[in-house]
Amino acid sequence: MAAGLKIVLLGPPGCGKGTQAEILAEELGVPAISTGEMLRGAVNEGSELGSKVEGIMSSGALVDDETMAAVVRERLARDDAREGFLLDGYPRTLPQAETLTSILSASGDELDAVVLVDVPEEELVDRALGRGRADDSDEVVRERLRVYREKTQPLIGFYEQRGLLRSVDGYASIDDVTGRIREALG
Ligand code: ADP
Repeated sequence: MAAGLKIVLLGPPGCGKGTQAEILAEELGVPAISTGEMLRGAVNEGSELGSKVEGIMSSGALVDDETMAAVVRERLARDDAREGFLLDGYPRTLPQAETLTSILSASGDELDAVVLVDVPEEELVDRALGRGRADDSDEVVRERLRVYREKTQPLIGFYEQRGLLRSVDGYASIDDVTGRIREALG
């Protein structure tokens, strides 16, 4: 894989895209940017952003698009993201996908690929509960999956239409999934 790739990892909560983002970012020499991690960081710091998003996150709902646009715009403007990145957890709605396109096009950039990490729903619930994060109760996990189906799944068609989508079967070992993503990216 060439360095300098701008990639979005797409997939339901618990599909393993965070793990894959870390591994591949290391290989590609680009930052793995996880909006979930950024927001959890803000909550832990007790920043203004953190107090705004804490309740929303623990309910399994999505933070509003405008707040997320500011977070992502600021993060992508940093030096380390100029040569490429792996975005994990953004975009999650169609307006966010439009925002990302316009953030990138403002500096003459565009995405190179969107990798969908596909995993069956029942496996996702088991994995998420096994993770044991405070915001991972059964009810919240199911709410996140519902929100994914309603708000995020439409992005699959959006990126398919733009010729950017690469689908990978994520129901396999971490190493196998990494290999499949590498292959999908050519
Ligand atoms: P998971 O890996 O379980 O999908 P993340 O760590 O990506 O969860 O995100 C955790 C929570 O942070 C989400 O449920 C949501 O409330 C919030 N969040 C993260 N990214 C976004 C985003 N792009 N838009 C809206 N909310 C977001």
